[in-house]
Amino acid sequence: MAKKQFKAESKRLLGLMINSIYTNKEIFLRELISNASDALDKRYYEALTNPERYINRGDLEIRIERHPEDRTLVIEDNGIGMTAKEMETNLGTIAKSGSSDFLKHLEENDNRNNIDIIGQFGVGFYSAFMVAKEITVESKSVEEEPAHIWKSTGEDGYTIEEGTRTEPGTRITLLLKDDTDDDKYSLWIDENEIRTLVKKYSDYVRYPIVMDVETVEPDPEDKEKTINSTREETLNSMIPLWKKNKSQITEEDYNSFYKANFGDWTDPQKVIHYNVEGNISYTALLYIPSQTPYNFYNGDYESGLRLFSKGVFIMDNAKDLLPDEYRFVRGLIDSEDLNLNISREILQQDKQVKALAASVEKKIHSTLTDMLKKDRSAYETFFENFGMNFKYEIYRSYGMKADSLKDLLLYRSSKDNAWTTLAEYKERMPEEQTEIYYAAGKDIAELEKLPVMDRIRDKGYEVLYFTDPVDEFAATMMYGYEGKAFRSVTKGDLGLDSEEEKQEKARKTEDNKDLLEALKNHLGDKVVGVRLSSRLKDDAACLVAEEGISIEMERILSQDPKGSTMKAAKVLELNPDHPIFSAMRRMYIVDPESVNEYIDLLYDQACIIEGLPISDPAGFARRIAAIMAKAA
Ligand code: ADP
Ligand code: MG
Repeated sequence: MAKKQFKAESKRLLGLMINSIYTNKEIFLRELISNASDALDKRYYEALTNPERYINRGDLEIRIERHPEDRTLVIEDNGIGMTAKEMETNLGTIAKSGSSDFLKHLEENDNRNNIDIIGQFGVGFYSAFMVAKEITVESKSVEEEPAHIWKSTGEDGYTIEEGTRTEPGTRITLLLKDDTDDDKYSLWIDENEIRTLVKKYSDYVRYPIVMDVETVEPDPEDKEKTINSTREETLNSMIPLWKKNKSQITEEDYNSFYKANFGDWTDPQKVIHYNVEGNISYTALLYIPSQTPYNFYNGDYESGLRLFSKGVFIMDNAKDLLPDEYRFVRGLIDSEDLNLNISREILQQDKQVKALAASVEKKIHSTLTDMLKKDRSAYETFFENFGMNFKYEIYRSYGMKADSLKDLLLYRSSKDNAWTTLAEYKERMPEEQTEIYYAAGKDIAELEKLPVMDRIRDKGYEVLYFTDPVDEFAATMMYGYEGKAFRSVTKGDLGLDSEEEKQEKARKTEDNKDLLEALKNHLGDKVVGVRLSSRLKDDAACLVAEEGISIEMERILSQDPKGSTMKAAKVLELNPDHPIFSAMRRMYIVDPESVNEYIDLLYDQACIIEGLPISDPAGFARRIAAIMAKAA
């Protein structure tokens, strides 16, 4: 029998499939099942218009047979079938736009390794050559007698001869490739593997996918024995969970679907299942995990939603559907309006996809806003898991995302150490308070003891605790909240003084001009200035930063392995009402040099309070000991 040759383009694609190093070979089954499902659709439609070919929809099915003895896997349908001519054109050439797109992509990128994108293009029938060394297709068209058999081992062409099949439909037999060390092709006749693949890719196919499965049951006659038998099983549910009516889905259904599909062991914290009809219609089933994935904050966390079109799986981790601030959300989107062959590249530019993503974003935002309002403790748990990501995104977007995220932020506050939103903070601000105060540092216990806190507490002001390293950076990008600027309690002028206090301070500063200047000269480059403080109550001294980068930011940046030379412009502030200050004044008059010892000590203490390293710890200890000895 004469061999016919594939068209040039097909030959190239076939070559790629046969020699494929592509790791995701499993998609071949999805492709064959989707072709079978199309053929069933066509037969059903044809029967509707041709009453003499009537067929009961319930009789249409896809059958999978495993024959481990001769290493063959069979996928059979009783669909429309193909005539000899159709076999020639459909299986001998690339008709599919997906395949042509795929080849074009390969050409443009001139890189065979791009084979990894097959999964997104869905190259169709030829993908079976990734796993089979010979493919036999016996098909009987509803329109033609007799049946025909198409057979090919790949690039060297194919044959078509008459077959014996009498019922319309198509039976595809794959003779699997031989196992190698790297590739165990026998996997594709494994009962469980097939069951898993059908569940994963084709669960929602609207026709039953049946397969004989082996069962082992106890012998009712003899308890010691078991009976092995086979039973036909429908592998797919035919209705995907997300297409079911909400009222018919239990929490358990949602949770087990989540755990089976999204690589988590624990139940999700929240399920968001909804349906949108309109310019773009889609169903979404989204989950908020109940714990932070171990790799969430490092590079290898894969975000994105699973994308389906009309119930057919298109791709995993479609990032363009999910804005980065919500990248913790897992789940899927099924849209009627998307092309089945959409690729990742197209996804990025597609208008429909953009509309879809905007709609998803809105829904997640409103769900979280709702949760914050109605279930505060659940929201706080959520925020402890993923809230840092919001702050990070505000920072990364240079504040562009601040508008949409600012009301989803929580901070610990000096009011009961509880979580608060910015709106709640603002609501509680006394009338004369013009800025939102915050203290940045590693932990709350340390921040509570900052020298400046006493004065602020006395004033009745509240302070937000910025304990995430990103907090202060994000706040810088937000440029305040609803007209109120953020103000670090260790930076610049806090505006705590009344008019009288201001005048009093100006007077004291004038009185101590020489002393303050001498102290600054002694400290040299360590500080940009020494001045009298209006933020201290019981403590003698503290370090504050001028406008610009704060001391806490300097501390965080100094941990960057790439090294940072960014330094805060520091000012040493002294409490004029503290006994030490009076002592220093007296000493300065008697013996100006002796004051230096005190100022070095005060400076080092202030560094310690701020969590900054001191330059000479041994010297610091010696100076303290010397003073203690004097007092003793
Ligand atoms: P696509 O499904 O996108 O058209 P494929 O490469 O998967 O591309 O299939 C090529 C063509 O072969 C199909 O369009 C169809 O006409 C035909 N075909 C494949 N499998 C079957 C089948 N089981 N029954 C009838 N026709 C089929
Ligand atoms: Mg197809």
